[in-house]
Amino acid sequence: MAEIIMGGVSIFLFKTGSRNQLNNNRKDGNFSAWYEQLFGMKLPHQDTVYDILSEIPEDELENIETDAISGLFEQKFLRKYRLLDKYYTVAIDATGVVSYDKPHCEHCLTKTSKKGKVTYYHYVLEAKLVTNDGHAISLAREWIDNPAGKYEKQDCERTAFVRLAQKLKKNIRVYRFASLRTACILTKTRLKSAKRMVGNLYLCCKTTH
Ligand SMILES: [Zn+2]
Repeated sequence: MAEIIMGGVSIFLFKTGSRNQLNNNRKDGNFSAWYEQLFGMKLPHQDTVYDILSEIPEDELENIETDAISGLFEQKFLRKYRLLDKYYTVAIDATGVVSYDKPHCEHCLTKTSKKGKVTYYHYVLEAKLVTNDGHAISLAREWIDNPAGKYEKQDCERTAFVRLAQKLKKNIRVYRFASLRTACILTKTRLKSAKRMVGNLYLCCKTTH
């Protein structure tokens, strides 16, 4: 399984942009030998990676990630990155993943332009531990998705943040961290509820956008 997950991560690691490109690299004997030497495992064909990963439920993959991250915390490997020797610094922000001109699924977010054109899209809210030497380590994420069926208000970054904070507390069990947040999602009420849920959340860094 480690080979399959590493094979999936490799697309992003090598910035190949497509599974096909990584398969082409894989045909190069030097590339494959170098990969095996570096990671201690073989690089699988990307069709195999796709076939297996697409069958695994998302929460099971997330459990693997949580176990790996929890191990780093438990081994105190990340302690040296704490702010003021006390707080883990976590950046939380949403990013667009895909958008469509036509409905893609029953959970799509939608926006309508002034001309009446409807766009269907998906956003994810991601929490990353960031370090002063430039590392960004994913801790958890929450999809910003509409519920199936009828709803009064679309899901948004603010409500997804509450779910994400609960997930961080439950899965990662990090009670002291400083949160680098976009100012737009930090209302007084949200900050209060976030403090209640995740402990000493005290730092807000306004971003440039
Ligand atoms: Zn959709």
